[in-house]
Amino acid sequence: MSELQELYQSLILDHNRSPRNFGVLEGADRHAEGYNPLCGDQVKVEVKLDGDRVTDIKFSGNGCAISKASASLMTAAVKGKTVAEARTLFDGFHAMVTGHGDQVDTKALGKLAIFAGVAEFPVRVKCATLAWHTLRDAIK
Ligand code: ZN
Repeated sequence: MSELQELYQSLILDHNRSPRNFGVLEGADRHAEGYNPLCGDQVKVEVKLDGDRVTDIKFSGNGCAISKASASLMTAAVKGKTVAEARTLFDGFHAMVTGHGDQVDTKALGKLAIFAGVAEFPVRVKCATLAWHTLRDAIK
């Protein structure tokens, strides 16, 4: 395994062990729930909006390391962003994990780029995108 892959794996394990923005969001404006039957991952995403901006976001639920780490990194990535910016991030993230990373600016994805390796494991794509699909449902 390359040094970079090890770094990525340790980041995923870290976010799985100590997920950011995990729990119930008091006074949430929107929420949605998502389920990935292929793996059994369940996630609930709650957001607070100020106009068009995501001012706070939390997730809860149960799932595999990838789904949990992805939800954790997603909440960190979209907090403070506008709904349109969050959608752009999702589009880029989705393209990357489905093997179309060459079509997006992965630098703009920041830490989310650690999920690039998921593209080699199609069965894991739903784990990595579950929280994002659920966020999209919550803010549509
Ligand atoms: Zn999973």
